[in-house]
Amino acid sequence: MTIAPQLNLSREALEPYWMPFTANRAFKANPRLMIAAKGMYYTTAEGRQVLDAMAGLWCVNAGHGQQRITDAIREQAGHLDYVSSFQMGHPIAFKAAERIAGLTPAGMDHVFFVNSGSEAVDTALKIARAYHRMRGEGHRTRLIGRAKGYHGMGFGGLSVAGIGRHRRDFGPLLPDVAHLPHTYSREHQAFSRGQPDWGAHLADELEAIAQINDPSTIAAVIVEPVTGSGGVLPPPKGYLERLRAICDKYGILLIFDEVITGYGRLGTPFGSAALGVTPDIITCAKGMTNGAVPMGGVIASDKVYDAFMAGPEGAVELMHGYTYSGHPLACAAAIASIDVYEEQDIFANCARASARWEDQAHSLQGEPHVVDVRNIGLLAAIEIAPKPGEPGGRALAAGNICFEAGVLVRTAGDALVLSPPLIITDGEIDRIFETIRGAVRALA
Ligand code: PMP
Repeated sequence: MTIAPQLNLSREALEPYWMPFTANRAFKANPRLMIAAKGMYYTTAEGRQVLDAMAGLWCVNAGHGQQRITDAIREQAGHLDYVSSFQMGHPIAFKAAERIAGLTPAGMDHVFFVNSGSEAVDTALKIARAYHRMRGEGHRTRLIGRAKGYHGMGFGGLSVAGIGRHRRDFGPLLPDVAHLPHTYSREHQAFSRGQPDWGAHLADELEAIAQINDPSTIAAVIVEPVTGSGGVLPPPKGYLERLRAICDKYGILLIFDEVITGYGRLGTPFGSAALGVTPDIITCAKGMTNGAVPMGGVIASDKVYDAFMAGPEGAVELMHGYTYSGHPLACAAAIASIDVYEEQDIFANCARASARWEDQAHSLQGEPHVVDVRNIGLLAAIEIAPKPGEPGGRALAAGNICFEAGVLVRTAGDALVLSPPLIITDGEIDRIFETIRGAVRALA
């Protein structure tokens, strides 16, 4: 049977592709295929227009099909397709790094290119350990993550991550890793707007871990400034500040995984600016190229970078990298993406829109099954009470009703997770939350 006539795609033809993070057999029995996208909307294989309330996968921050980005990729591909990523270069990689450094907090001026968020995290963890070694503190190897954290799927990122379901099938992960508790408490935080008032003290767990393990063994702490895949958990007020202070006290590097919060999602170029705390290392990906080609980056503070550059002249400072680090097509897309973000003032639109976003999200309080609403910037989670014995089932059903009504939302456990393109209009905000309202009422 043909399922997408315009693509001449039969059901059997779906078999060879082993899809990531997907129940392959269920999907292939009932595939959800998108064949085009523009602005806020996908076109499905059936020809329906669906409002993308996920920005692809937290990445298409400027909306789909931005002409300037696609033109830049096309032009670059016709000009210079590839050059070795080491011991030679191409000007556009240097230009891309310069433009990115222009967006980062002061003193964070050095960009190491990779191809994904997962690679960015593993690279950041390796940089942290090597940094201490460079400075004669090779005993600092311990890495601290956090419960509910998501840091990609490499063994490094998985080791510091805190979602049990992601970790359980893969055998031993990195040793010498400890985890901070997550910061979520429905009892103390339900229906908080933006950063919750309760929970700053949870950062003091880092102090406790330092005392148990000897602080001089700890290389780095990695957290998402806003926990994303773990269910959109904004940091409690004062929490990140306390983490920063404890890291400073013990010479521990603080890594912010900004794969989601980077590139405008909190209304500033990086989330650290919106949240008022500057880490030592930032990881990014996703919005870097507006999702158009794979790219990730690690942004190092001058302190970190300078430690490497103080080594012997002529030696490779960091024995690490990837074939496609700083790929010409990705760099062209990265520059064009920043052009688009700046010229269309997209981060400012996020800041402007997020007040209505917050109001509309919280207007769902009191609707059937809605047990919490969390939001910050243009992120939100609508927590749905699970059906007894069927975790995630009700949220999934609500998500499917939304999709049928023309709004694509993501489900993560018992939450509907929202992260629309930052070009969203007031009307589109209203439509997303009215559709969710209809869905949870229909479930009742
Ligand atoms: N870190 C965070 C915070 C993420 O949200 C993600 C992806 N959702 C990653 C890392 C991994 O990125 P990628 O899928 O590009 O490897």
